[in-house]
Amino acid sequence: MKKTKIYVETLGCPKNLVRTQDFYRQLNYGDYEVVYSPEEADMIVVNTCGFIADAVEESLTVALELKQQYPDKSLVFGGCVPLRFGTQLVKSELPEFDYVVPGLDIPNISSQHKESLQTSVLTYPYAYVSIAEGCDGRCSYCTIPKFWGSLKSRPASDIVGEINELYEIGIKEVILVSQDTGAWGTDLYGKPSLELLLNALRDTQVPWIRLMYVNPTFITERLLRVWKDVGRVLPYFDIPVQSGSDKVLSLMRRGYNRKQVLQVLQFIDDVFAENNTKRTSIMVGFPGETESDVQATLDLLIQGQFHHVGVFGYSDEEEADSYKLLPKIDPAVIDSRKISVERVALELQQAWEQKTVGKTYQCLVEASSDSEFIGRIWGQAPEIDGVFVGKGEVEPGEMVEVVVEKTKPGQLIGRKKVQEVTSNT
Ligand code: SF4
Repeated sequence: MKKTKIYVETLGCPKNLVRTQDFYRQLNYGDYEVVYSPEEADMIVVNTCGFIADAVEESLTVALELKQQYPDKSLVFGGCVPLRFGTQLVKSELPEFDYVVPGLDIPNISSQHKESLQTSVLTYPYAYVSIAEGCDGRCSYCTIPKFWGSLKSRPASDIVGEINELYEIGIKEVILVSQDTGAWGTDLYGKPSLELLLNALRDTQVPWIRLMYVNPTFITERLLRVWKDVGRVLPYFDIPVQSGSDKVLSLMRRGYNRKQVLQVLQFIDDVFAENNTKRTSIMVGFPGETESDVQATLDLLIQGQFHHVGVFGYSDEEEADSYKLLPKIDPAVIDSRKISVERVALELQQAWEQKTVGKTYQCLVEASSDSEFIGRIWGQAPEIDGVFVGKGEVEPGEMVEVVVEKTKPGQLIGRKKVQEVTSNT
C-alpha cells in the first residue's frame, strides 16, 4: 500500500513544536511517511498558534497560502486556532481546508506505533520536552487556560523516560517547557512540586537541561539549592516578569509584585553567585499603563540585571478579562514603548556578552562547515539569546570547549580551545 506523505508546518512557540514532535512519535509509520517540504507531501498539516490576534492571522495566512499553492493536496488545519474558536466555526468560515481538527488530534493518523524520535529532532542537538499542558494561572490578558484547560502535569517518570530516550539518540540539550513550569505537579501532589521534578532529573544523563517559563512566585531559595545540587540543570533562569509596575502587575493578575521579583533575583545571585544567566519577557501597552509604569519596568530590568529580555506588545483579545479594562493604549504608543524596552534589552545583552570575552565555555555545536561552526554556550537558549560563532573543525552535536574572543550584538565570537600539550623536554 502506498504510504501517505505528510508534512507539518509548525507555527508559534516551542510548546507547539513539542506537540508536533509528539504527533510525529505517534504517527502510524505503516501508513504515513514524514517529509520535510510541502512539495513532497500528499497531506499538509498546519499546526497553528492561537495565542493572540497576530498569531491567528499569521496562521490563517500561512494555511491559505499553502492551500492556494498546493490546491490538489489535503490541507489539515489543526493546532490552537480550532481549539480556541471551535472546529465548527472555523470549518464554516474556511471551507477551503479539507480537515479542521482541534490540537493535532487527527483520526486514523495516530497509533501506538513508535517508529523513532529521530523524525523530528535529529537536525538539532537539542529538543523540547513538554512537562505539562494547560494552566491554573488566571492572568487577565491570557486566553490559554480557556482553551487548553487547567494544569495537567506529566508524571516525573514519563519526563525522565523521554529525556533518556532523547539522550540515547544523541540529544545533548533538553529544554523543559510548559505554560507555567514552576506550577508543575500542583494537580498531582496538591502543591507546586518543581523540587520533586528537579530531584527526579538526577536519573538523566543528558548534559544540559534548561527550564523555560518559571513564574517568580514559584522560585524559593530552597528550590534554587536543589536546582544547583542536581548539576545538569543549567543555572539559566527564564522568569517572565511582564512588568515592573505593581499597579500593572496587579491588573495583570500575575500573583507577585516588584519586591518579590527582586527578592527572587537576589536568591539566584546568593545561590549561584555570578554563575547564572537571567532572562525575562516584558509586555508593554497593557490597558491603563502609563509612562511612569514603563519607567518602572525599565528600572526593574536594570536593577535586576537581566541578561536577555524579550518584549511584546499587549494584544486585546475579546475572550480575555483584560478586554474590559480601560483606557486602551494607542498601537503607536505600544510600538514606541516596545522600542524603549528593546533599547535597554540590547544594552543589557551586550553588557552580558562583553563579560564573556576571554572566558572558556562548553559550546553545543549546531552547524559547521570545514573550519567554522555555530553553536551556543549554556547562557544562550536556542533561537532567542544569540549564538556562538567559532573557528575550528567540529561536528554538529559535539560539545566542545571554546574561548570567547570578541562579540557583536547577538554573537559571541571565538574559537575551539586547543588542548595544551605539556612537555618536560
Ligand atoms: S501563567 Fe498566565 S500567561 Fe501563562 S499561560 Fe497561565 S494564565 Fe496564561
